[in-house]
Order: sequence, then structure tokens, then C-alpha cells
Amino acid sequence: MIKVGFVGWRGMVGSVLLERMLEEKDFSGYEAYFFSTSQVGSEGPDVGMGSSPLKDAYAISALAEMDVIVTCQGGSYTKKVYTELRFSGWNGYWVDAASALRMDKDSVIVLDPVNSDVIDGALNKGVKAYIGGNCTVSLMLMALAGLFKENCIEWLTSMTYQASSGAGANNMRELVNQMKIIGLSAEELLNNPASAILDVDRKVTACLRDPGFPADNFGVPLAASLIPWIDSPMENGQTREEWKGVVETNKILGRENNPIPVDGQCVRIGAMRCHSQAFTIKLTRDIPLNEVEAMIGGANEWVKVVPNNKEETLKELTPAKISGDLTIAVGRIRKMNIGGQYLTAFSVGDQLLWGAAEPIRRMLNILIKHCA
Ligand code: NAP
Repeated sequence: MIKVGFVGWRGMVGSVLLERMLEEKDFSGYEAYFFSTSQVGSEGPDVGMGSSPLKDAYAISALAEMDVIVTCQGGSYTKKVYTELRFSGWNGYWVDAASALRMDKDSVIVLDPVNSDVIDGALNKGVKAYIGGNCTVSLMLMALAGLFKENCIEWLTSMTYQASSGAGANNMRELVNQMKIIGLSAEELLNNPASAILDVDRKVTACLRDPGFPADNFGVPLAASLIPWIDSPMENGQTREEWKGVVETNKILGRENNPIPVDGQCVRIGAMRCHSQAFTIKLTRDIPLNEVEAMIGGANEWVKVVPNNKEETLKELTPAKISGDLTIAVGRIRKMNIGGQYLTAFSVGDQLLWGAAEPIRRMLNILIKHCA
């Protein structure tokens, strides 16, 4: 029976992956082994086969016994272990949520509802590394798959509103803590309906600027503010997050030789786990809006077109609504007054699901079928 090793299963992405796999009853047809970088020997999770002690995630010989390794442990782990494991002669499949191997020439970025042809081609060619994409890129491609499939996009910009979860578990906690501290600072004034709103504002601003305000992880306040910078700087003035937009999109689509221009500004906002994006799209021709909506809505079973009216936008197109759900909501779809070839749309998706765990879960299932 195929042996699958899981590394990084108790982290944020890993636990969403496990939750989804249990929900979908995925743990069958193979033997599952759990590894740890810090708790070797402790009891592993029971996924319906009883639990057993955690294996050492740094032990190359133990890893080499696996046919497939699924890791959500992070880039430093991948860098530390992957080359050595391959060097030892291991020829199994490596499925990874981290970005370390994404742009490697011997890897494929996986998002099967969008690039199953690229994945199938790679499996047939014997490619052994399958890597989850950047969350914002995967969510954008899920939302606009219908337009990409029909070759309707000449170029696009994506202005993002990215959730705290993309920065990690500690950042999510810090955001909620910041909200609490702000609420407490203004509590007395809020409890008095006669208090002046400018006094409330002054209290909140003073709280945000207090040197003791909790911001160890984000570096600055995110609650009641935003951060227009994600990841490290690139030489051309983009952030790395913005750079990923063009390189990963075109790698996922298998269009490295004929890339579609993609750019935008990536901004962190105080949402919990849903990334939102506002698109400006230059279409390759002037396509009627009803056809555009049909292409977007018909691309996959998760994308849902939200009619461009206030009531449904407020009800269906917000992080509060989409959080924890596989739905990719796309709304505010309209032609821009710049011209008939210019389209705008807004989308919201859960970045821990389609942005991280779900493409990995589905890739493992594809591999299990492929190896059977
Ligand atoms: P994480 O939550 O920091 O977990 C990583 C590892 O930290 C765990 O597997 C665990 O390893 C260890 N750990 C130490 N203390 C822990 C604790 N108290 N609770 C749980 N785990 C603890 O990492 P992540 O945010 O899931 O990200 C994993 C990888 O996915 C990264 O490469 C990231 O870039 C990538 N990714 C993340 C997102 C996202 O939205 N966050 C999206 C796409 C891709 P041991 O069990 O071995 O100790």
C-alpha cells in the first residue's frame, strides 16, 4: 500500500488540511504517517486508523520510506530537507504548501480546477514536485478561470485586501488583540451615547500611536488601519507578493513563454482569513457583460457570481460571509467607463482553503489515483 507522510500537519495550513481531509473522508487507500520537527515520539493524530508516535521530520531515512510526502511545514524546512532527501536517491512525490520550490524548473504549481492539463502533463512526464501556489494568485485564478480559459484577458491588475491569516497564526492573534485594546481604550466614551465622536476618534488614534500598542508581529497597527506592504522588496519597486502575481499566474497556466501581464498593489487589512481583490481587466475584445458573467460563473463549481446590486453585495461578497467556505464570490462585475474592453470585478475567497490547503488536498488525491 502507498505510504504518505505528513509534515507540518499541526500548523495553521496543516490543520485546515487535516480538517478538510477528515471532512472529505480522504484517509483511505493509503497508509498515513505523521512527522514532527519538535515532538518526535509523542502521539500523532488519530485520523481513523488509531494513532502512532510521531516520526522525526528531519530523519532522511524515515522520510525516504514514504511514496508521497505532504508538507505544510514552511520554506526553511523544505530548503533543509528536500535536496538531501533527493540526493539520498528518494524518488517519491513531494507536495508542498511553502513557496521554496514554486519557481523551480522541475516543479509544478498546483490548482487543479484551473490547470489540471498542466498537472496531467507533468505526471506523465514524471515530474515529482507539486507545490501549492501563493494564496492571492490561486484565489484570483479560481475567480477568473472562465476568462483565462477563453483567452479573454489581455492584461489585468489586482488590488488586494489581504487577511491577517496570510501572515501566520501569531499575526491573527495580534490583530484580534489590537481590536480588543482599541475597544477598551474607547469603552467609557462608547458607553456614553452623549459623548462626542471626535473624542472617540482622538482616543482611538492616541491608542494606535501609543508605544505600548501590541504590534510585535505586524510592526504597526493593522486594526483601525491597513498596511500597504506585504513580504520583502524587489529591485523594481514591487513587493515579492506583487511579483508572485505575474510569475506564478503564468507558471500555473503554463504560459511562461507567452505571459499575460499581471500587476497590482498588495495591501494587508484587518480581515481574519479571507483575501479580497479588486480587478481591472483589459479584455482581448469587447464582450457583452452577460457573456462575461456566464464565463466567470461557469468556470468551476466553487465560483459564484454575485449580482451587482447593493443588497446582494452586502450579503454575499464580504469576508464575514465567505470565511470558512469554499465559495469564491465574484461580484461588482461591470464595464468601466474607460471603454468596452475594460472590465472591473471584486472577489472574496478563504485564503486558508483555496489559497492554501485545498489545492494540496486535491493534489494528494490526484497522486493517489495516479499511483494506484
Ligand atoms: P505555522 O502555523 O507556523 O506552522 C508551522 C509549524 O510550526 C507546524 O507544523 C509545527 O511543526 C510548528 N509549531 C510550533 N508551535 C506550534 C503550535 N503552537 N501550534 C502549531 N504548530 C506549531 O505555519 P503556516 O502558517 O501553516 O504555514 C506553513 C507553510 O504554508 C508556510 O511555508 C507558508 O508560507 C505556507 N502557506 C501559508 C499560507 C497561509 O495562509 N498561512 C498560505 C499558503 C501557503 P511541528 O509539529 O513539527 O513542531
